[in-house]
Amino acid sequence: MSDLHPKLQPIFTTVLARNPGEAEFHQAVKEVLDSLAPVVDKRPELIDAAIIERLCEPERQIIFRVPWTDDQGQVHVNRGFRVEFNSALGPYKGGLRFHPSVYLGIIKFLGFEQIFKNALTGLPIGGGKGGSDFDPKGRSDAEIMRFCQSFMTELYRHIGEYRDVPAGDIGVGGREIGYMFGQYKRITNQYESGVLTGKGIGWGGSRARTEATGYGTVFFTRDMLTSRGESLEGKRVVVSGAGNVAIYAVEKAQDLGATVVAVSDSGGYVVDEKGIDLELLKDIKEVQRGRLTDYAAVRKHATHVDNGSIWDVDCDVALPCATQNELDGDGAAALVKNGVTAVAEGANMPCTPEAIKVFQEAGTLFGPGKAANAGGVATSALEMQQNAMRDAWTFEATEERLDQIMSGIHTRCLETAEEFGSPGDYVVGANISGFIQVAEPMMAMGVI
Ligand code: NDP
Repeated sequence: MSDLHPKLQPIFTTVLARNPGEAEFHQAVKEVLDSLAPVVDKRPELIDAAIIERLCEPERQIIFRVPWTDDQGQVHVNRGFRVEFNSALGPYKGGLRFHPSVYLGIIKFLGFEQIFKNALTGLPIGGGKGGSDFDPKGRSDAEIMRFCQSFMTELYRHIGEYRDVPAGDIGVGGREIGYMFGQYKRITNQYESGVLTGKGIGWGGSRARTEATGYGTVFFTRDMLTSRGESLEGKRVVVSGAGNVAIYAVEKAQDLGATVVAVSDSGGYVVDEKGIDLELLKDIKEVQRGRLTDYAAVRKHATHVDNGSIWDVDCDVALPCATQNELDGDGAAALVKNGVTAVAEGANMPCTPEAIKVFQEAGTLFGPGKAANAGGVATSALEMQQNAMRDAWTFEATEERLDQIMSGIHTRCLETAEEFGSPGDYVVGANISGFIQVAEPMMAMGVI
């Protein structure tokens, strides 16, 4: 990461001063500003109109109390968030995260990234994000339901098909979306399918939405490798995480001929040299909601490592799909030493700035999350299209659209990087392309 352009530094200084203690948000803003120096010279009108300052300030931030009762009758109080960041391209769109680490700085980093990611898809969606510091781990279905109902009892008044359309993220999957949709329907007395995405297939959900983020990350990786005349066939792949994004990244990587040798969760990682047994992984994580130690207990030849870094596992391709800042400079150096050729971010901001620097200096293909994991939100936008049309597409048709969208993002990143003087730099390509796509409508709509 370089020093910022003199016209961009004061903007960043103001962001730091106005948003104290929000380290992840600062990091996300800095990464975008680092890429925008060539825009200052080529498109000065966008800078003069204070587009960046406006992008850094959410249009609206909602923080609310979420009281709920556990199975023992004890009352708990959590905090709920929805940050409606930018609606220049369409209704706010972005997931809800339920994790104890959630605070305003995390939601703002995710919401800020979402603006550019959504713009990159080329679909009419603005950027937003939300969630709660609620910890779903170890909670019964009934507790999850009561929490989701309480969360929606406040959130419902802020969202809508044409206003703000939340989806899932860490800790929020089909079960939670179901409980929230049910409560929204009950309060509003409307069957408004387009208010949430990630719904079940029988009640307005899109086929391939569950798979979309992981599949899309692998499609993007495939396209990066193709740009160097390589493919995923026969490659050793390491995927961090064992949640929604990770599981379907494993599935598609293996479909395309790679062997995924390791996955992780917050309790450690598992190495399976014969290739991850996907059905077993799905059963443990999606059905039993268990731990990776259960995987190693069944697959006797697999090893579970409690303490240590998954990035020490020798691989050709690494897909960080768990959480922010999970891959640091040391992790990146270990991967490079072992000969990694491509890294794509399935998670949001999983690589620290130091890690990205290591990859870029080593000439490793590096796909930033804004581009590489945009398949999830893109398919959410396809779900919105199907809801608006009262239609349901086949899995194959939806996956084909996803594949086309990912290839389009890949091409756009490369072309923009080339045009702005950094050929092959997907970070610059994604940031500048996303920025321009949202800045132009902002210019057209005046100072709002
Ligand atoms: P899930 O909750 O389904 O899975 C998250 C996985 O990451 C779990 O294996 C979890 O382990 C692990 N994890 C989460 N937090 C931590 C942590 N602090 N330390 C170590 N491991 C952790 O979430 P998703 O798969 O949906 O999301 C993963 C990432 O992908 C996030 O960054 C999310 O923002 C991003 N993303 C998700 C999209 C989607 O469509 N779902 C779309 C685009 C991006 P454990 O269960 O042990 O906590």
